[in-house]
Amino acid sequence: MTQSFYPPQRTLMGPGPSDVSPRVLGALARPTIGHLDPLFVKLMDEIKELLQFAMRTQNELTLPVSAPGSAGMEACFVNLICPGDTVIVCQNGVFGGRMKENVERCGGNAVMVEDDWGSPVSVDKVREAFARHPQASILAFVHAETSTGVRSDAAALCALATEHGALSIVDAVTSLGGIEVSVDDWGADAVYSGTQKCLSCIPGISPVTFSPRAVERIENRAHKVQSWFLDMQLVMGYWGGSAKRAYHHTAPVNDLYALHESLVMLQEEGLEAAWARHLRNHRALVAGLEAMGLSMAVAPEYRLPQLNSVCIPEGVDDAAVRTALLQDFDLEIGAGLGALAGKTWRIGLMGYASSERNVLRCLNALEAVLEKQGAGIRTGAALDAVRDSLAA
Ligand SMILES: *Cc1c(COP(=O)(O)O)cnc(C)c1O
Repeated sequence: MTQSFYPPQRTLMGPGPSDVSPRVLGALARPTIGHLDPLFVKLMDEIKELLQFAMRTQNELTLPVSAPGSAGMEACFVNLICPGDTVIVCQNGVFGGRMKENVERCGGNAVMVEDDWGSPVSVDKVREAFARHPQASILAFVHAETSTGVRSDAAALCALATEHGALSIVDAVTSLGGIEVSVDDWGADAVYSGTQKCLSCIPGISPVTFSPRAVERIENRAHKVQSWFLDMQLVMGYWGGSAKRAYHHTAPVNDLYALHESLVMLQEEGLEAAWARHLRNHRALVAGLEAMGLSMAVAPEYRLPQLNSVCIPEGVDDAAVRTALLQDFDLEIGAGLGALAGKTWRIGLMGYASSERNVLRCLNALEAVLEKQGAGIRTGAALDAVRDSLAA
């Protein structure tokens, strides 16, 4: 007979999913109610308001797509692109490549603006791309590139799109909850995120928001959206403000309890306090890693506090280290991706996982494993460096 599945208690310090708060796990186990139950409808309204708070927007069309971040990405592209549209896509890591794929599947022409993996999107290159392609109707970029740990200047990029009469699509999957995401101040038009990175929630839901300009473009589309499930005109009938909600799909009821709880936690902590916590723990981790003699892969001014790319020391067996961390310490960190595969580790400090306890746990485990590997690191210095950093 197949037995029930009981996962071990891991510490998730990779690129996501990250540790889920026990409060959120508790919310998941509450009794399921009908998705058109008046109490559930009230919960949906609260989630919408909480998402507006978290994303710093007044956008009416703000809701959680019932699927992971990739579906939120797709929702933005399929609703805003019509065949033949020119879309400027910035790529400085894995996720920009997925944006290109989305544009092409919508029948759009992707104009690529490429930057090195580990560097931010160049605002100047985007300006040049608009000059060469004045017909471009959309600019798409990743705010927090999880594959490299780099932050790009979302405010400047959104402003550039607006200046050229284009809409902006922003990937804020890894940024939301960890660093500032100010949709209205930026003038961003379509922003999607995910629940499993800095929101301390389970994977599988994707908050999205669309500006009034974006909604207008959706309402005036000449082509039907190619996806039935993600067609915002239909989803709006379910999540929209009208008194009568039409059945579209069955919302993942318990998952939304979880999202609600995680957003209530974010509200209790405060957005600025959450960003400050991510920054403080990031600085402590970097201080510890550098005290061990390891170096960071990204320049300090572009580093994401929630995703730390560390250079793998010469001669160290990447996979063996990650396996030892998982098997001996129940600790998950991420491998490098694409151009950085085998060259970096990605250490996440996301949401509930961004804690002093996890910083210390990770440094202790890494020190033990690297020493055993004969990596030539400095031992015994990391904890003092962490203490100094946290006291500063
Ligand atoms: C994780 C991630 C996604 C995809 O989210 P899923 O929930 O895995 O579908 C998209 N963009 C970025 C930047 C991410 O980090």
